[in-house]
Amino acid sequence: MSARSQRATSLEAVLDTARLRRDFPILDLKVNGKPLIFMDNAASSQMPRQVMERWVKYRSEQHANIHRAVHYLSETATAEYEAARRKVQVFLNAPEDREIVFTSGTTDGINLVAHGYGRRFFGPGDEIILTTLEHHSNIVPWQMVAAEKGATLRVVPVNDRGELLVDEYRKLFNAHTKFVAMTHVSNALGTIAPVKEMIAIAHEHGVPVLVDGAQAVPHLKVDVRELDCDFYVFSGHKLCGPTGIGALYGKAALLEKMQPFKGGGDMILSVTFEKTTYAPIPAKFEAGTPPIGEAITLGAAIDYLSAIGLERIAAYETDLLDYATDQLHRMPGVRLIGTAEKKAAVLSFALDGVHPHDVGSLLNDDGVAIRTGHHCAQPVMQRFKVPATSRASFAFYNTMAEVDALVASLGRVQKLFA
Ligand SMILES: *Cc1c(COP(=O)(O)O)cnc(C)c1O
Repeated sequence: MSARSQRATSLEAVLDTARLRRDFPILDLKVNGKPLIFMDNAASSQMPRQVMERWVKYRSEQHANIHRAVHYLSETATAEYEAARRKVQVFLNAPEDREIVFTSGTTDGINLVAHGYGRRFFGPGDEIILTTLEHHSNIVPWQMVAAEKGATLRVVPVNDRGELLVDEYRKLFNAHTKFVAMTHVSNALGTIAPVKEMIAIAHEHGVPVLVDGAQAVPHLKVDVRELDCDFYVFSGHKLCGPTGIGALYGKAALLEKMQPFKGGGDMILSVTFEKTTYAPIPAKFEAGTPPIGEAITLGAAIDYLSAIGLERIAAYETDLLDYATDQLHRMPGVRLIGTAEKKAAVLSFALDGVHPHDVGSLLNDDGVAIRTGHHCAQPVMQRFKVPATSRASFAFYNTMAEVDALVASLGRVQKLFA
């Protein structure tokens, strides 16, 4: 048996990918006459049939507005919506379901905290710590609030492998430090940040921490109690769920102290023209009619992934990433960007003499979908002195054979430019 097939056999023992792939109708697609090889999962992942069916069931049998009426459908929709909240709670191991706020996604969750917490508690001269690895959505909201409040941003640097420098982070704390916002897994490099350790350091200084979990929840088992983070945010669409929905976990004591970011119906106890009394959490942060079906469908995506098991998904994807990393290492003219010891599911690289945009479009000719560009993380690109990278990002439904096809396609691109 070759090393490749031995490895494939041991991978199959971890996860029956062939069977799981049948749950994803889109994976049967042909692109440019070639089987689709979807490696843009860090931007958005695909949805299995079971999750789509949950949406159809909701729309066919359960749809009405929630929380307002006593009729059958409204009660059913309300019960299902709240059941989805409890699924998120269990998924993150949050202590209470009222600590889960439905949002429209990671960006919305970060804005909710930046505005809800920052506007209330930040002042002139205060400092907010971010890291070099942040997605723009974990930079811009903080910049907006900092500008409004006269606060400044401090940034944790990374080494040449894309790992955060924890000692430098430690030195950033002083009496003005008010908040830390950091990613759990970098979408541009795949680095898994030492969040637990970094949260503990912040807490020694009495500083709360928001963790951007958009790239972590699809690949790792996340436990907010174990991490002891104060806030955790993610998006449904990177978790085999729908767009337009995400969740924020926040410790109840903090959520209660925060200002709602949006006002409207469903988030109040009483309204007069003189004064509004807000509803208790989480309703206080869910103004207006929420994406009810999307939340329920997100619950189904969580059920789907939990049935497979995040630990098994992580084990499978780690092996797949190791295999792909080996293969790309062997190719002359390929430079991997982001070589942290602990990584999840992302392979960013540069191909000598070929612009990433050309790499992306030539791979598309072979049916291979990767992303090229700055991945909404321009500070990471600046740190590695590249304008853009090519990024293959995996899900548990990707296979070693697909990695081989990626490598073959890259070889073809190199020949064209040789
Ligand atoms: C995708 C992503 C975001 C933004 O998520 P949206 O769903 O676009 O709101 C934020 N942070 C990271 C690390 C991401 O990968």
